[in-house]
Amino acid sequence: MSRTADILITNGILLTFQNGSFSFKRSDLAIKDGIIIDIGEDLSFKAKKKIEAKGNIVLPGLINAHTHIPMSLFRGIADDLPLETWWQKFIFPLEKKFGSVEFTRIGTQLSALEMIRSGTTTFCDMYFFEDEIAKVCKKIGIRCFLGEGILDFPTPSCQTKEETFFVIEDLNKKWGKDPLIDLLVAPHAPYTCGEKTLLASKDLAEKLGLKLHIHISETIGEVDQIRSKYNKTPVEYLDSIGFLDENVQAVHCVHLTENDIEILYKKKVKVIHCPESNMKLASGFSPVPEMQKKGIMLGLGTDGAASNNNLDMFDEMDFAAKIHKGRTGDTTVMDAFSIFKMATIDNADILGMKDKLGSLEIGKFADIIILNADRPHLIPLYNPCSHIVYSAGGQDVETVIIHGKLIMENRKILTIDEEKVLQEAREYSEKIKKEI
Ligand SMILES: [Zn+2]
Repeated sequence: MSRTADILITNGILLTFQNGSFSFKRSDLAIKDGIIIDIGEDLSFKAKKKIEAKGNIVLPGLINAHTHIPMSLFRGIADDLPLETWWQKFIFPLEKKFGSVEFTRIGTQLSALEMIRSGTTTFCDMYFFEDEIAKVCKKIGIRCFLGEGILDFPTPSCQTKEETFFVIEDLNKKWGKDPLIDLLVAPHAPYTCGEKTLLASKDLAEKLGLKLHIHISETIGEVDQIRSKYNKTPVEYLDSIGFLDENVQAVHCVHLTENDIEILYKKKVKVIHCPESNMKLASGFSPVPEMQKKGIMLGLGTDGAASNNNLDMFDEMDFAAKIHKGRTGDTTVMDAFSIFKMATIDNADILGMKDKLGSLEIGKFADIIILNADRPHLIPLYNPCSHIVYSAGGQDVETVIIHGKLIMENRKILTIDEEKVLQEAREYSEKIKKEI
C-alpha cells in the first residue's frame, strides 16, 4: 500500500542541504502535517495535491531577518533626503499620526503579500501593535517572529516601556504556542533605550526564552552620540553593561572597530546585515566580509520598506553579494553560496530554528518555494545557486508553501483576497497623502 501525503512535488530541481553544504538534484518531495516527510527520486505517495515542478527550482522559503512590516504604507514617501530629515520630518511624525491598529493591519497585509510573492516564508519584525500583525499573518499563513518595539519614550501602541513589557508577556501567552507565530524582545537601539531598559529587556527575554533583537551601530551619528555619553562605541557600551551574549540579534552593525568585531565574536552575537537600507540611507558599508572571516554568524534582512524600498530578499541577496566586492576590491568575498546560506539556513540558526527551518530536509517544516526556471534570464542553468543570487528576482517565484499549506499557486494568492488588500492600501495612502 502506498504512503499518503498532503502535497507531493514531483520532478523539481531540489536544493537540499547535507553535511554543511547545498546540492541540487532532480527529485520529488512529500509533505504531510506541515512537515517534509520524504525527498527522493520517483517517490510513490497517494497525495491529496500534486505539484508538477517540471524542472523548476525548488528551494527552502527565504527568511527576512529584519523588517518593520507595516511601514510599506510609507514606501516612497520621502526618498533621497538627509537621514535626519527623513526620520525627523517624515517618518517619526507620520508614525505618530498614523500608528494605529488599522494602519498596522493594512500595512501588514500589503507587506505579507509582497513577501509571499517574492519567496519569503518567514520574517522578523520590530514595530508596534504586534498582536494585530500576528492576527494578519495567521490569517494569510506566513511565518513570523514578532518584536513589539521597546523605547524609552511613548510609542504608537504603549505609553511607557513597562506597558510594552506587559504587552510582550501577553503576546507570549497568546501566541507563544502557535506553529506560525513566534516572538522576540526588541529594544529599539542603545540611543533610544537607556541601560535600565536594555537590561530589563534582557531579563524579560531570558524569562520568556526569547531572542533579543536590536539595532546597533547603524549610523555614524549614533556612534558619536554613544561615544560622547559613555566614551565607548555602541558595541563596547552594550558589552560593558552585560547586554551582549549569544541570544542577541544585532541589526546593521555598520560602524564597527576591530575591537567591536572581537567583542561580537567573543560574545557570540548574531549580526543581521541590511545592505540596501544602509546604502539608501547613506549609513555606510557594514564590514561583513571581515565579520565572516572572524566567524561571526551573519544573517540578512531588508529593513522596512520606507528605507529599501521593497521587501524582496532576492534583491537583498544580489546587493549583499555585490557591494562588498565593490567595497573591498576582492571578487571572491561574499560568494553566492554564502549569501544564499545567510538568507536561509543561517537566518534560521540565528532565530534558533536551524532544526526546523532554512533547508529542505526530512523532518523540517515544509516552507518551500518553487521558482520558474523557464525564463530568458535564468537560461542556461549551469549553477542554480548563482542564478538565485545574481539573476533571479522575486517575480520568478511561482508557488509558495508555508507549514505544509499552499499559500500561492502559479502566482495566485490563495489565503486572502489580494485585490481587496491592494485597494485598502491604496485608499489608506490617500489619507497619508493629505498630511505630506
Ligand atoms: Zn530596522
